[in-house]
Amino acid sequence: MQPSPDILVIGSGPGGAVTATCLAEAGHAVLMVEEGANLPLDSAPHFSREEIVQKYRNAGIGVAFGNAKLAFAEGRCVGGGSEINRGLYHRTPADVLSLWRMAWRVEALAPEELTAHFEHCETIAQVQYLPGLAPAFSQRLHQGAQGLGWASMEVPRLFAYGPKWNLGNPGRKQSMTETFVPRFLAAGGQLLADARAVRLVRESGRWRVTVEHRPAAGAYRLIEISVPTVFVACGATGTPALLRRSGITHNVGNQLRFHPMVKVVAKFRDEVNLPGELEPVH
Ligand SMILES: Cc1cc2nc3c(=O)[nH]c(=O)nc-3n(C[C@H](O)[C@H](O)[C@H](O)COP(=O)(O)OP(=O)(O)OC[C@H]3O[C@@H](n4cnc5c(N)ncnc54)[C@H](O)[C@@H]3O)c2cc1C
Repeated sequence: MQPSPDILVIGSGPGGAVTATCLAEAGHAVLMVEEGANLPLDSAPHFSREEIVQKYRNAGIGVAFGNAKLAFAEGRCVGGGSEINRGLYHRTPADVLSLWRMAWRVEALAPEELTAHFEHCETIAQVQYLPGLAPAFSQRLHQGAQGLGWASMEVPRLFAYGPKWNLGNPGRKQSMTETFVPRFLAAGGQLLADARAVRLVRESGRWRVTVEHRPAAGAYRLIEISVPTVFVACGATGTPALLRRSGITHNVGNQLRFHPMVKVVAKFRDEVNLPGELEPVH
């Protein structure tokens, strides 16, 4: 590990990995710490029990208590949620950008001002539509939605499908461990996995960050890192949790929004779920 990085990035999901890579490629000495393990994208079959145990926080069983009790899932591994998600991609919709511009007075946030940035990200992450027909059950979902007059569309994905795309050769999701993390390391960035930031303290113009390092093989260590600059990119629950533990509470973690997922079961006369078809895109 670098004895004294200029910048510490906490969390290695899309937020942390992209930030750390841009800074390392700009010549900074960057250390990225990640609570979860450093595993390749295909260390377990996608959406399998093994993947959930390896790469999800609390083995996939997160619960939010409150007026509405919700079960939620999030990643806990190098690459964060990008390793376990479906890789469906949307440009930030114009109405959301407009809301952010007004609510937070952010400048240069009109869709046309972001086009170059969207295109850059889409090139790196190889955002593509399926090169062939969507699976039968995805098409059925689309037809059903249309029948009800609902909006439904095929969504492109961060996916390298390759020229020989078919069921046996589905391509590769462009997660962080496939894209930004290798670039970060090639630019001289240092990655410390199995390392959870416990607290940040501001001292004499620097941040002192306490990190628990629990490698699967090797001894537990408590590390103190002193840096001028820290980026906290621990995800929707991890970022406010770390900041609040550190006594930084003003406007932090007062609310949490979920994007709900509803599971629907239906029975059809003809075969809809064909073996090997796992990727709905509508
Ligand atoms: C099952 C699933 C499916 C999804 N499908 C899609 C999809 O198809 N399309 C889409 O756009 N989005 C999808 N998402 C959401 C998307 O993955 C997230 O929005 C995205 O990963 C958020 O990036 P992030 O960097 O903010 O946080 P995360 O990806 O959550 O990364 C945060 C990282 O910080 C680490 N961390 C947390 N606390 C600490 C700490 N104290 N110290 C060190 N490290 C810490 C975590 O372990 C984690 O790896 C899905 C998410 C899930 C869970």
